[in-house]
Amino acid sequence: SRKTAVTMLGIGPMGQAMTRTLLTAGHPVTVWNRTASRADGVVADGATRAASPGEAVAASDLVILSLTDYQAMYDVLGSALDSLSGRTLINLSSDTPDRSRQAATWAASHGAHFVTGGVMVPAPMVGTAAAYVYYSGPAPEARRHLDELAVLGEPRYLGEDPGLAQMMYQAQLALFLTTLSGLMHATAMLGAAGMKATEALRELLPAADSLGDILRSGEDTPGAALDAEEHPGDLSTVTMMGATANHIVDTSTSLGLDLALPLAVRSHYRRAYEHGHGGDNWTRIIDSIRAGTE
Ligand code: NDP
Repeated sequence: SRKTAVTMLGIGPMGQAMTRTLLTAGHPVTVWNRTASRADGVVADGATRAASPGEAVAASDLVILSLTDYQAMYDVLGSALDSLSGRTLINLSSDTPDRSRQAATWAASHGAHFVTGGVMVPAPMVGTAAAYVYYSGPAPEARRHLDELAVLGEPRYLGEDPGLAQMMYQAQLALFLTTLSGLMHATAMLGAAGMKATEALRELLPAADSLGDILRSGEDTPGAALDAEEHPGDLSTVTMMGATANHIVDTSTSLGLDLALPLAVRSHYRRAYEHGHGGDNWTRIIDSIRAGTE
């Protein structure tokens, strides 16, 4: 059976990976990219190049956007407004939940269905068994298309609110990006002691790997403790972890490193301690974060 035609707007690394995956699965794919030459590779692989966003949108009922942010969507579709009615736009670009909701309203005003999403793997892993993609938006549109889009990665539908997929995406990326910065901070500390990055990461990456196991190892997962709003400090406390946070600031200061990350961590423990929670488990720092910026 003939596979659904798909239009792909935005042929960066992610758009290229998705286009190739869809082509391999047998979908006819029409592509448009602001910098036309960036689509040369996928066109050589069998995609059809559109001369304008309007021509690209008109080619398929299903339109996927893979752009830097949502402003880029308005920039690209601004010249294609007449073609939008009846199409389903699936925006897999990163942005805030609020901008996703505004975009859903905007798309509806032009007669288009709008599904938002976030791809949770780097481009080379698109289409592999490890890939998954969060989606949210109107259930009928999502159901109609997500089975087909499963070739990109396992679809995880979160609900009707168009902001949900980006909320999950930004939460996942908050974890990912702070972890990457933590990893580079640690690498810079060891580098100051003369250790090559390859040696440093040989020690650090297994520790990063084991984090999930450590957090799951107790009788209660952190999630159960957090949901019960109980923070028993039997094995580790805000006071002990806060002292360590101070030592990281002091060590980083003496090495002349950027202090932004260590100071942020220290402030989480300091605020919990100042609120009288020094004897609680480290999970108490969620209250410091929920309280907003001081
Ligand atoms: P790039 O930044 O490489 O590509 C972004 C695309 O947006 C390009 O096609 C670019 O066009 C286009 N673009 C940006 N601004 C405008 C504009 N104002 N008008 C028209 N076109 C514009 O990003 P990626 O392909 O890497 O990522 C795309 C999305 O996927 C992002 O939201 C990213 O967060 C997400 N993502 C990326 C991952 C990755 O590993 N790369 C992993 C998971 C998600 P041009 O080529 O002309 O500059």
